[in-house]
Amino acid sequence: MQQDTIAVHAGYNKKEGWGTMNVPIAQTTAFAFRDAEHAANLFALKELGSIYTRLTNPTTDVLEQRFAQLEGGAAAICVASGQSAIFYAIANVASAGDNILISNKLYGGAVTLLTHTIKRFGIEARVFDVSDASNLEEQIDDKTKAIFFESLSNPQIAVADVESIVEIAKRKGVLTVCDNTVASASLFNPIKWGVDVVVHSTSKYTNGQGSAIGGIIVERDGLAEFFKENASKYTEFTEPDESYHGLVYVDVPLPNFCLRIRLALLRDIGAAQSPHNSWILLQTLETLSLRMEKHSNSTLEVAKFLESHPKVKAVNYPGLESNKDYAKAQKYFKDGKASGLLSFDVESYDDAKKIIDSAKLFSVVVNIGDSKSLIVHPASTTHSQLSEEELLKAGVNPSTIRLSIGLEDPIDLIEDLTQALS
Ligand SMILES: *Cc1c(COP(=O)(O)O)cnc(C)c1O
Repeated sequence: MQQDTIAVHAGYNKKEGWGTMNVPIAQTTAFAFRDAEHAANLFALKELGSIYTRLTNPTTDVLEQRFAQLEGGAAAICVASGQSAIFYAIANVASAGDNILISNKLYGGAVTLLTHTIKRFGIEARVFDVSDASNLEEQIDDKTKAIFFESLSNPQIAVADVESIVEIAKRKGVLTVCDNTVASASLFNPIKWGVDVVVHSTSKYTNGQGSAIGGIIVERDGLAEFFKENASKYTEFTEPDESYHGLVYVDVPLPNFCLRIRLALLRDIGAAQSPHNSWILLQTLETLSLRMEKHSNSTLEVAKFLESHPKVKAVNYPGLESNKDYAKAQKYFKDGKASGLLSFDVESYDDAKKIIDSAKLFSVVVNIGDSKSLIVHPASTTHSQLSEEELLKAGVNPSTIRLSIGLEDPIDLIEDLTQALS
């Protein structure tokens, strides 16, 4: 099936249940078993089915199947937010004493999670340059469990050198985890380029209307073989799980990565997605590709306008031919479309603040991927918890303004920016 058909139909059988055209919301905490044996079978994984909404839910299950197919993966698992998706993806493979490699260009929340919070769990994060990956290999050792990067980074708007990262990771037997939030499942599918695990904050473009928080993790087909080949490193999967009566994940004929998140991490930590949010995301996923095309086209128009403006020192949008990542955007993203984020630099911190306060159509919001256009000053908001050194490393300049271009007519957006810059 083609992407647009998957987004509307996959994972739902209208001929079952009530026959509703729209996927119903299973707004329930728990599920009744047919009898004691049914209950025992579900717990023993002899039969698959719903037990409790912290673990599985039929509405969420449709979204998981649909999203997995969209990303070209074997399975997906929804969690409560993008942050919990990143945490689970890492915690699924790394323990105290291990290390992970993280890109130098990441979402602020991912930076604090992976460098500060996870450190308190005894996991060390080492930073590599995502643009050329040249210093990646030398930092890998036998305790390196994952390489984490964003395909299109927020807020630096850099395109990852996916092929080089995947090549090194495969050679070294290290799991790759790609945050594909900004590119979205419509413009880029990391698994098709060899990435092992994809995470998204579905709060952003997948939702597209700023109406729900959610996260999802998708795994490629064949991860059990990868864990077996690297058995001494990924013992969580190859040795018995004492917390699940000695279950060995690689022996279970189900996609291993999501299975372990469900049985161990969702069970114990419990950042489950509400079925209502799954339903909202099923609605919004239907229009994802239409929206991404419009976001991308409008952002290119705004970027060209800003590039020609005398008060703008630099514009960063990989859809612009002048951009250092233009070739990578053309190579990786569908029709070379580069999504809806752009940033630009003005003269000073004070100029940036004045422009933000003068914009009328743009809302001052620390979000991205909304249907409404958003404007933000990363240095004083999303990235304000980073030290000056971390700010510079993250490529955030004090006079940088970030825009998330919505679905309005770009004529109006350009008019608003014209007056804000005057
Ligand atoms: C927003 C965002 C996150 C965090 O997602 P939440 O749903 O807000 O928890 C992670 N990664 C990227 C790239 C994001 O933009």
